[in-house]
Amino acid sequence: MVRYVYDFRDGGRDLAGLLGGKGANLAEMTRLGLPVPPGFIVTTEACRAFLATGAEPDGMAAEVSRHLSALEETTGRLLGQPDDPLLVSVRSGARYSMPGMMETVLDIGLNDDSVLGLAKVSGSERFAWDSYRRLVQMFGSTVMGVDPALFGEAMVLLKGAREAPDDVHLDASDLAWLVETYKRLIRDETGQDFPQDPAGQLRQAVLAVFRSWNAGRARVYRRREHIPDDLGTAVTVQRMVFGNLGPDSGSGVAFTRDPATGQPGLYGDYLPNAQGEDVVAGIRDTVPLSALERLDPRSYRQLRDHAQTLERHYRDLCDIEFTIERGTLWMLQTRIGKRTAEAAFAIAAELAGEGLITPDEALGRVHGEQLGRLMFPRFDTGRAGPALAHGVPASPGAASGAAVFDSAEAVRRAAAGERVVLVREETTPDDLPGMVAARAVLTSRGGKTSHAAVVARGMGRVCVCGAQDIAVDTGARRFTARDGTVVEEGTFISVDGSTGAVYAGAVPLVASATMRYLESGEQTGSVVAAVARALEHADVVRRLEVRANADTPEDAARARRFGAQGIGLCRTEHMFLGERRKLVEEMILARGDAGRAKALAALLPLQRQDFAGILRAMDGLPVTIRLLDPPLHEFLPDRTELAVRVAVAEAAGGQPEPHDVELLDAVNRMHEQNPMLGLRGVRLGLVVPGLVAMQVRAVAEAVAERVRAGGSPRAEIMVPLVGSVEELRLAREEVARVLAEVGEETGVAVHCPVGTMIELPRAALTAGRIAQEAEFFSFGTNDLTQTTWGFSRDDVEAAFFSAYLDKGVFASSPFETLDREGVGRLVRIAVEEGRAARPGLQTGVCGEHGGDPESIRFFHTAGLDYVSCSPFRVPVARLEAGRAALGGTDTGDSR
Ligand code: ADP
Ligand code: MG
Ligand code: MG
Repeated sequence: MVRYVYDFRDGGRDLAGLLGGKGANLAEMTRLGLPVPPGFIVTTEACRAFLATGAEPDGMAAEVSRHLSALEETTGRLLGQPDDPLLVSVRSGARYSMPGMMETVLDIGLNDDSVLGLAKVSGSERFAWDSYRRLVQMFGSTVMGVDPALFGEAMVLLKGAREAPDDVHLDASDLAWLVETYKRLIRDETGQDFPQDPAGQLRQAVLAVFRSWNAGRARVYRRREHIPDDLGTAVTVQRMVFGNLGPDSGSGVAFTRDPATGQPGLYGDYLPNAQGEDVVAGIRDTVPLSALERLDPRSYRQLRDHAQTLERHYRDLCDIEFTIERGTLWMLQTRIGKRTAEAAFAIAAELAGEGLITPDEALGRVHGEQLGRLMFPRFDTGRAGPALAHGVPASPGAASGAAVFDSAEAVRRAAAGERVVLVREETTPDDLPGMVAARAVLTSRGGKTSHAAVVARGMGRVCVCGAQDIAVDTGARRFTARDGTVVEEGTFISVDGSTGAVYAGAVPLVASATMRYLESGEQTGSVVAAVARALEHADVVRRLEVRANADTPEDAARARRFGAQGIGLCRTEHMFLGERRKLVEEMILARGDAGRAKALAALLPLQRQDFAGILRAMDGLPVTIRLLDPPLHEFLPDRTELAVRVAVAEAAGGQPEPHDVELLDAVNRMHEQNPMLGLRGVRLGLVVPGLVAMQVRAVAEAVAERVRAGGSPRAEIMVPLVGSVEELRLAREEVARVLAEVGEETGVAVHCPVGTMIELPRAALTAGRIAQEAEFFSFGTNDLTQTTWGFSRDDVEAAFFSAYLDKGVFASSPFETLDREGVGRLVRIAVEEGRAARPGLQTGVCGEHGGDPESIRFFHTAGLDYVSCSPFRVPVARLEAGRAALGGTDTGDSR
C-alpha cells in the first residue's frame, strides 16, 4: 500500500523527493536530536495525485488523522482543545526550495473558544488574540482566496487609529477587534464564514497548500529556475512554537557562516516578540544575531552549537529558521544555503582544507558561472554614492558613461570617442547600433529576457533592465530617479550589471582580484587562493582540453595566460577589415585573373604577418586557422548608401563616381536574400579563384618563417561550411598543392593537418564519408544550431526568443546552451561515425557553446577531445571540464 504520511522520526534528507526539502530536513534534524517541534509530512506523491484528480488519494485522510492523533498524544493536547489547544502550522515545501512562492498557514486549531483557553494557559491575552488574527488572516488569503491587501489595509487603519508605530503596540482588545474585522471581511468577500472546526481547518489548509503549487508566481519561478512542473509540494504539519509570547521570545534566521564572504561564524537576523513570518516580511526592523547573544546568551550558545552540528553533518553552509519561546530554542528549518560566488569558492576551499569534503567535492560545489562573475571588473563601491536606482541585473559587468537617450546619439558620441550609456524605456532592434556603441544599456522596462537583456548579453554589454525607479523621458532627453534626481543627456552614470545598481557619476573601476590572478598569477586573499585551488584540481581531473577562439596575437597571448592549450578557431575574416578593405574590394572588382591575382598578392604578406604573430604567441600549441567564411559582399560598402550616393549625383545632373557605379554594380550582383545560406564558406573558396591558395600560402609561409626562427608552429587548416565530402576533397587538393609549393620554395617541409567544421546537418549525417578527407572535426555549433532549427540568429533572437522562453518552448536559448536533443544528437552521430571511419580523428567544438557550463558537460559525455571558447571563458571552461569529469559527484546544486 502507498504511504502518504511520514512522521518526522521516520524520514530523512535522502527522502527529499518525497517529503520535500523542508520536510526531509526537519526529519533529518529530528534524527540528529536537535530541538524540532514534532510533526509529520504529507508526501509530494499525495499532492501529485490530488492535483491530477482534484481529490485526496484513497487513504490519505485516514493516515493524516492517525498521525494527528499520535501528535496529540505526544503533546498531551487535542487540536483546538478549548481549554489548552494544540496548534499546528501547515507548511509547503517542494523538492527544491522556492522561497516565498507557495503558502504556509500558522496557528491552525484556534477558534472563538480555543483562543480563550490559549489566553488562559499562556497567561497572555494579547498573545492569544495576536495568534488568532494571524490565523484568520493567513487562512483567509491562502485557503479562502481573499486578497491579502484587504487584511493589510484593515491593519493599517487600526494602527493609525491607535497611533501604534507597529503591531507590537496593539493590545489584546485591538487584536480581538481585528479578528472580528477580518472575519467580516472574509464573509463579505467569499460569502462563507471562517471555519471554527479545527479538523476542518487542517484539512482545508493542507489542500490549499497542495493547490499553491500551481499558483502563478510559483510557475514563473519554476520556469526561471528550470524546476520541473510536475514535482508537486509536500505538506508539513508541525506543532506550533511561539515567538510572539513576549520579549523573552522571538524568531530569526541564521547562516552557519557569512553567505556573502564565506567567513566562518554564525550570521543572521533576529526579531524579538515575533512569529517567523515577520522576520522576512520586514514589518519591523530586525537586529543582528550579536544582539541575541546579549539578550539571551543561553539560546544563542545553543543556536551556535546546533549550527555547527548542522554544518558538520551537511558538510556545507546551511541556513536555519529558529524560534525562541520563553527562553527555549526551537529549530524550524534548515537547508543548504545560497551564497555569492566569492563565498562558494571560499567555503569549498575551506571545507576541503578541514578535510570535511574531498577535493572532488569541493570542485563540484563551484560553478563556472560563479567563476565568470569573479572575473568581471568591479565598481569600487567604497567610492560610489548611494544608488540612484535598482533594476534587473541582466548582463554582468560594470561600466560608466554619459547617459544618451537614443541610438543615433549613442553612435555619434561613441564615434567621437565618448563613453556612453544608452538609456531607454525599452530597446527594439532599431536600437542595435546604439547598443553596440554604448558601454552599457539601461532600461526602465522589461525583464531578463527583454530585447535589451538578450541582446546585451549576446554582445557582452553591461545591462540593467526594468529599473522601474527611473522615469525615462526620451523626448526631453533625461530621466528622473525616485529621489528626484534628474539626469540630463551627457551626464555620467555608472551601471552595475552584476547587482542591478545604477549610480550617479563615473564610479571608478577596479580589476577583480581573480582577474589579476589569472593575468599574472598574483595571489591575493583567500577567495583567489580558493579559485586557484579549484582550477588546479580541475586541470588534474579533466579529460577535455580547452582551447581559445582568438584572431590576434594579443588575444592568443591572453588565452595562453588563462590556460588555453591552443587555438581552436582563428577566424581570418577580421584580417580583411580596416585598411585592407580596399584590397579586398579590388579583389572582388577585378576583371580578369591577372587583376585578381594582383589584389590577392597584396593581401598575402599582411595575412602572413598575422599568422606568424599568432603562431609565435601559441608556439608549441595547435592553432586551427579557418579559411575565409563570410560572403564577400560583407566587405563591400552598404548597398543603400551606395545607391543613394549614385542617385544623388545623377539627380544633381552630374556624373556619379565611376568607382561608386562599379561598386554598386558588384554589390547588386552579389546581393543575397539569405546570406547565411548563400555564397560563403567552402563554396566561396571553390568559386573565387586564388582565394584559398592565397590564404594557405600565407599560413604555410608563416609556418616556414617560424620554423626558421627556431619556433615550433603547429598550424591546422580548417575548411568551413562543408556539406559534402566532395567539397572538402577539392579544397584539400588545393591546400596540399600550395603546401607542397611553399615547402619547395622555402626548403621547410610544411605539414598542416586539414580538417573541417561540422556546421550543417548534412555534414553531421555524412560524417563517415567526410572523415575520409578530414584529419579533424570542429563543431561549429552556432551555425549548426541555426541550420538545424532553421533559425537565423540575428533575426530570431530579437524577434521572438523572449516569447519562446516565456512560453516554455525552450528553457534556455539554444544559442547559449546546446540543444542536446537535436543539435546534440547530430554531434553524437558525427563523432561516432567520424571516428569509425578514421580512428584517432580529433574532435572539438568552437561555437560559443564551448564556453557554456551546461554544454561543456554534454561535450564531455559526447567524447569530444576539446572545447574552444573566447579567451575570457577559458578559465570557466577549464573549471567546467573538470566538473564534467567528476560525473556523478555531488554538484552542490542548492536551488
Ligand atoms: P517559507 O517556506 O515561506 O519560509 P515556512 O513554512 O518556512 O514558509 O513558514 C513561514 C514562517 O513560519 C517561517 O518563518 C517559519 O519559521 C514559521 N513557522 C513555520 N512553522 C512553524 C511552527 N510550527 N512554529 C512556529 N513558527 C513556524
Ligand atoms: Mg521557511
Ligand atoms: Mg559557421
